[in-house]
Amino acid sequence: MYEGPRQVSVKDVPDARIERPTDVLVRITSANICGSDLHMYEGRTDFERGRWFGHENLGQVVEVGGGVDKIRVGDWVVLPFNISCGHCKNCERQLTNYCLTAQPEPNMAGAAYGFADMGPYGGGQAELLRVPWGDFNCLRLGEDAEQRQTDYVMLADIFPTGYHATEMAGVQPGDQTVIYGAGPVGLMAALSATIRGASKVMVVDRHPDRLRLAESIGAIAIDDSKVDPVQAVLDETMGLGADNGCECVGYQAHEPNGEEHANLTMNRLVASVRFTGKIGNVGVFVPQDPGANDELAKQGKLAFDYGMFWFKGQHIGSGQAPVKKYNRQLRDLIVAGKAEPSFIVSHELPLDRAPEAYEHFDKRDKGWTKVVLHPAM
Ligand code: NAD
Ligand code: ZN
Repeated sequence: MYEGPRQVSVKDVPDARIERPTDVLVRITSANICGSDLHMYEGRTDFERGRWFGHENLGQVVEVGGGVDKIRVGDWVVLPFNISCGHCKNCERQLTNYCLTAQPEPNMAGAAYGFADMGPYGGGQAELLRVPWGDFNCLRLGEDAEQRQTDYVMLADIFPTGYHATEMAGVQPGDQTVIYGAGPVGLMAALSATIRGASKVMVVDRHPDRLRLAESIGAIAIDDSKVDPVQAVLDETMGLGADNGCECVGYQAHEPNGEEHANLTMNRLVASVRFTGKIGNVGVFVPQDPGANDELAKQGKLAFDYGMFWFKGQHIGSGQAPVKKYNRQLRDLIVAGKAEPSFIVSHELPLDRAPEAYEHFDKRDKGWTKVVLHPAM
């Protein structure tokens, strides 16, 4: 439960329950902590105290509403973080990340479990989770689901999100791709670029343990605390720049000295990617960041190098990932043994150890790359 900036507790709350005929109730066995939870955890959002997080969820169905006809009690399911109705204008176009029905606020789109500004829904870092429009929002898993939870739970968010970054960047076989950020999302983008056939994947960060994970799947690690990352990418690409790039850091990008420059990764991408190249930005930027240390950034505005971006004729795709667009195919790559996203998991912990897990992950303490909480195991 969120108690205020950098404070979470574990408390008993009323059980989630079926509220509508289309709901499914899931006993959550795996719920990840995500970099996106940190925006709320650090107090950068208006997330209400007394609510709880958890948008990367997997578990077993324990009850279904009377209007549910595909999903059955006992099914193992993974739940896209986007809650979506399946039949609004956006969902019909696969834009489940911007569902108009699940988001109750007028002039807003997009909903998620346990998330600021994304509807009133409970989080999955709890024993039970109500899944609205259950037939649409549950992705059924096979018989190996219980044993391979740490692979399949990545389908709730970061594997499809990393893939979405490479889709927006248009990564094609043979491409040379640069990724800023070797957090869980950046590492999933690196894995996705490899799956799509990139000939060279370059990953920029400053945490040696995370960079080693990038190397473990064949990427080239670039430590921006030691070298100029733009020059390093140019050196790797015969001076031309990468064919495309992914931004997997977001507005919390900071210099090694701790100074915040939210624009840094975007400008470095513009400089690292070749003329006419595409950039996929999944790192989160926000309309308002009261915690930022300059006036422009407080209003969510960046000193973005638009002139160079225009001059190079580049493209950017942005926003939350439409998880449902990709999760079935990515699930089948896991089933076939062609993708093992669990290589990033550093800790599997019971729910009552969430407070220490948040603290370590928030500080990016050495070795704390991805935490899977097991509420009901
Ligand atoms: P994370 O914070 O653990 O990882 C971010 C990484 O970026 C860290 O390893 C950090 O050292 C590195 N970094 C910081 N400044 C950098 C810089 N200037 N250059 C290169 N690397 C830098 O978080 P995560 O879980 O990997 O998430 C990353 C971002 O993706 C967050 O903003 C998160 O909210 C966002 N996200 C977006 C979606 C989506 O649907 N678009 C989904 C999930 C997460
Ligand atoms: Zn997430």
